[in-house]
Amino acid sequence: MGGEPMEKIRLQCLGAGREVGRSCFVLETDMKVMMDCGLKIYQPGGKKDMFPEQYQGPLDGMILSHAHFDHSGYLPELFNHERISWFGTPPTLDICSLLWPDSMKIMGEDSPYSEADITRAQKRFVPVKYGQKVHVGKTEFTFHDAGHILGAASIEAEWGKRRFVYTADFKIQETRMHKGAEPIEDAEVLLMETTYHSREHPPRAPLEKKLKVEMKEIIDNGGNVLFPAFAVGRTQELIAIVRSLMPDVPIFVDGMGKDVSKIYRKYGGYISDAKGFEKAADTVVFAGDRRDKADATSMPSVIISTAGMLQGGPALGYLLNMRPQSKMIFTGYNVEGTNGWRVMNENKIILDGNLLEVDLPWSYYDFSAHAGRADLLEYIKKANPEKIVLNHGDRIVEFQNELQAKGFEVYAPKNGDVLEL
Ligand SMILES: [Zn+2]
Ligand SMILES: [Zn+2]
Repeated sequence: MGGEPMEKIRLQCLGAGREVGRSCFVLETDMKVMMDCGLKIYQPGGKKDMFPEQYQGPLDGMILSHAHFDHSGYLPELFNHERISWFGTPPTLDICSLLWPDSMKIMGEDSPYSEADITRAQKRFVPVKYGQKVHVGKTEFTFHDAGHILGAASIEAEWGKRRFVYTADFKIQETRMHKGAEPIEDAEVLLMETTYHSREHPPRAPLEKKLKVEMKEIIDNGGNVLFPAFAVGRTQELIAIVRSLMPDVPIFVDGMGKDVSKIYRKYGGYISDAKGFEKAADTVVFAGDRRDKADATSMPSVIISTAGMLQGGPALGYLLNMRPQSKMIFTGYNVEGTNGWRVMNENKIILDGNLLEVDLPWSYYDFSAHAGRADLLEYIKKANPEKIVLNHGDRIVEFQNELQAKGFEVYAPKNGDVLEL
């Protein structure tokens, strides 16, 4: 029994088509199941480019790969009108429960959902562990560790003889927090993220060595090292990295990364070295009040603070109060138009509507939580798919052409496209 051999799969591509942000798909087998429902929060084009396209037909279920906002940010809006269950790993719900109310505040009147929608979404959550199988109709879904952030999953869907894999965001290389994803083999249809299809990330070991030399010089000269860091994933990884490289330096952590760090401690089973992280986190000051904040810049220290792109958060406050000889170190991507981007390109920030010069020197280290080019190619080799659907990247058509030349059937849908696979 099971599905008939040549049964068609349809895929509604509603976001992250030839772009990064607002990931959203609906997989149609015997059921209609949404996978991810993200939002592009810093969108110079305004509201119309923030949300995914409208989906077709009532849904039978929803699956969330991980808590990052470009995958989860629009999810509560669904529960304004849908009465379905949604599946995710337990840490994913905990992190989303922090992010959603906060982003509602940031979006203000533009927020597509209310507190009541968030509450309804939380009630409809069904927890799933890695390796566990869940069913929606006759379609079986399995969550696999994606090696990306706490609780992040790649999703395998089986329906009769059809096998569909959604990588979502993944990383194969080992990091301080995660062992790295094992590619899912024999995917018949592979829906893959391609954020870095055109470049490699430097190996971690020499990168950390270089970082240690730079931090040591700043601290020895009496300065502060400020890491503007994403709350989810990067803050925790930096705690582990910095503590391991410099056992005695005072480390202050501020912003939403503090609360997310608690969730990382709660779900130690989802990171590779829970004891090591616990130990490192015990030596860090999670800046709670004004005095902690003042302490951070009263001595040479390392400050790890939200927001990663300097769009709000206490990082901006530190930036304006740093000691002489200080330096700012970016470790992640800055979207054009954000303060992080402005510092790197114009040495300016916008604070309370005013354009300010920033004379603080900065440097950039690529500690990406995504697969690089070689990893994407390795994934394809192991998955050995008949059809590949590319998403979550810029200039995807270049990569599409390259893979087509190798003999694969490759799609690079735009938002709103529906594929018959
Ligand atoms: Zn992500
Ligand atoms: Zn993403």
